[in-house]
Amino acid sequence: MTTNNGLVSTKSLTEYPIDIISSIAVHLDLCSLWNLVDTCQFFRYHLLAIQEVWRRIVIDIKFCNHSQLYAGLRRFRDSNGLRSLVQQVILDGNDDANISWIIMLVKFPQLRHLSARYRRFSTNIETDTRLLQELYKGGTLKPHSIPLERVDMYHYYFTSEPHLEAFQRTLDRISKVPVQLDIRLCSMVPKEERQQQQQQSQNPLVIMEQTMEEMTISSSNECQNIIAKEAYCWACLYPFEGCWKCEPICNGCQKRRLPPLANDQKLQDLQRQQKQQERQKFINMKKEGSLIVLENNKQQCDNLIDDPSLEDEFSVFD
Ligand SMILES: [Zn+2]
Ligand SMILES: [Zn+2]
Repeated sequence: MTTNNGLVSTKSLTEYPIDIISSIAVHLDLCSLWNLVDTCQFFRYHLLAIQEVWRRIVIDIKFCNHSQLYAGLRRFRDSNGLRSLVQQVILDGNDDANISWIIMLVKFPQLRHLSARYRRFSTNIETDTRLLQELYKGGTLKPHSIPLERVDMYHYYFTSEPHLEAFQRTLDRISKVPVQLDIRLCSMVPKEERQQQQQQSQNPLVIMEQTMEEMTISSSNECQNIIAKEAYCWACLYPFEGCWKCEPICNGCQKRRLPPLANDQKLQDLQRQQKQQERQKFINMKKEGSLIVLENNKQQCDNLIDDPSLEDEFSVFD
């Protein structure tokens, strides 16, 4: 570890308070976490005893291979109490067919939130629904046995999806509570048809004649494209109602919409820029603040700079 003056500190990791070590551990991926636990007896003893460390597990195949990952998962057992501690599993970005999110439902009986986003090639709602139904019928996944509240599945390349309802129903059968998905069908009616319907609806005779049958036909023409429930315009943060094909112009800023991936990248760039600007503003404020004090009383300023409470005051602007 390098200190501020560039010297290498010889302080061992075990000399840091266990609170600091555990607050680092909660941010590690599963394999790195086990590597830390296995460093020495001291860490194993303390980290295994801190429940918060095991509530949320992050899987990242960049840091291990499949056998290390599954070996890591097998170490969550009823006998050591770890299995029932896990409430959240994050698999985002691991687009690998050998890493199944459904296994997590079997493995962790107290799972509340499962996130398997940005897995373009390994996400298939139809196949996943079938597999869930097989596990349900075979008794591996019992009715209303898991407190699963949320499942995130979104990726940028979803197309038409006729199995979403069956998927939702199957998850609801397994969970103790209704499961919230991060995706939904676009459900917009094509523009020409909407205009036609609007024209017809202005004619009172047509309204009278409009039968239930016709209503069903129009709803079957709704767009079946999958979109993220939380999709916002990068330029004005307006929440999108439909997919970018059905709603090509943003209703908030009237700009032409970008495809979902490009939209999110722009959004992230913008957020990053804003953070940098805020940081710069904070640094400038800190400099200006010090300068004013300098002009007033240099002696007082020196004291203030050394005062640790100053850091806290400025953190309000962070
Ligand atoms: Zn659509
Ligand atoms: Zn907009």
